[in-house]
This record gives sequence, structure tokens and C-alpha cells, in this order.
Amino acid sequence: MIIGLTGSIASGKSTVAAMLREKGYPIVDADEISRLVVEPGSPVLCEIKKAFGDEVIMEDGQLNRAKLGDLIFNDIEKRQQLNGIIHPAVRKEMLRQKEEWVAKGASTVIMDIPLLFESRLQPFVDKILVVSVTKDLQKSRLMARNGLSEAEAESRISSQLPMEVKERGADAIVDNNGALEATKQQLEAVLEEWKAEPLF
Ligand code: ADP
Repeated sequence: MIIGLTGSIASGKSTVAAMLREKGYPIVDADEISRLVVEPGSPVLCEIKKAFGDEVIMEDGQLNRAKLGDLIFNDIEKRQQLNGIIHPAVRKEMLRQKEEWVAKGASTVIMDIPLLFESRLQPFVDKILVVSVTKDLQKSRLMARNGLSEAEAESRISSQLPMEVKERGADAIVDNNGALEATKQQLEAVLEEWKAEPLF
């Protein structure tokens, strides 16, 4: 069984992913892969350089994210162009890692995908698990974690799909408004219901 784990920014998705990792589930991490595919010397980084110029590469060969961010900020066409370069490579690597776990005999694989709904990756997974919190708690946890003002936190939250939309698309929801222990218990109940064991 392939489980898609998602949520909204600061809803507790990484917290739940850590609980799953601790239980021994193999995890395909979309964020990690999106960093991996633009490593110095990678074909994707080479394409980005061709499309956006030498200025987006730092002296040590790493992608200059701040510079690239400035270039695509408020420029839909450029943003789409960048996504067109990065997204296929990320998807391909995600599927490759998933297949690798399946080939090793994993009976359950977790695909940790922050923007699962925004990127319409529902077909990648069999079940969708959404980690949910109220907007107020999401905002205060985000402000605390990232040292943001209320306005900055609100702007980041509103750039994603509303929590309710994700909840409607979920096969199960973990309510992360309470203590970590309560979240863990809900997670365990869902895994049991789905008979999703971390077995090889
Ligand atoms: P996401 O991965 O969804 O962005 P995180 O897992 O990083 O969210 O959680 C956001 C912040 O809230 C982190 O600082 C985390 O430690 C904290 N947090 C998550 N769950 C809880 C909880 N149940 N109680 C208190 N703090 C929490």
C-alpha cells in the first residue's frame, strides 16, 4: 500500500512523518528529492542555468534559490517554466524511490508530499492521510517555528489550498490540535484500520 502523507504548512506533517519513520516505515520525501534533483552537476540544474542564466548559480555550484525566487516572483510565465523543468524530474525520482522500496519487498511505502493536492499527485498513492489543525493553531505554530509575523504567516498559509479542501480529499485525517501523544494514537488507529504494516 502506498500512503500519501500531506497537510498544510505547519500542520504537523513532518512531525507525523517522524513518527512513521520511527515505526520503521520507508518514506519517500518529496522535499528532500526536490533538493536532490538540483544538486551541483545535475542535469536539472544545468537546464535551469540555461533557462535563467549564470546568475542563478552560486560560486560553489549550488543553486541560488534567493536569486531564482526573485526572478520568478510575480512572473507566472517564468514560474511555469521553472516548474516545467523541476517537476518532471522530482516526480520521476519519487516514483523511482517508491519502486525501489517495493522491489525490496516493503508492504507499505509512505510518500511524504507537502503539495500533494496542489500538484495533483493523488494518482501516485492508494490512500491519502491529511494532518490537520485549525487555522489559528497553524498560524501560531508557523510564526513560532519560522519566526514570522502574523501577516507573513497568513500570506504563506493562503498561498496553499485551504485545509477544508484537503480534508475533503483525504481517506483519513489526523487531528493535530492536541498533544503529540493524541496525534500518535490517531495515527496508529488509521494504520491499523488500513492494515498498513511496516513489513518487508
Ligand atoms: P509541517 O511539516 O506540516 O510544516 P511541523 O511538523 O514542522 O509541520 O509542525 C509545525 C510546528 O508545530 C513545529 O515547530 C512542531 O514542532 C510543532 N508541532 C507539531 N505538532 C505539534 C503538537 N501536536 N503540539 C505542539 N506543537 C506541535
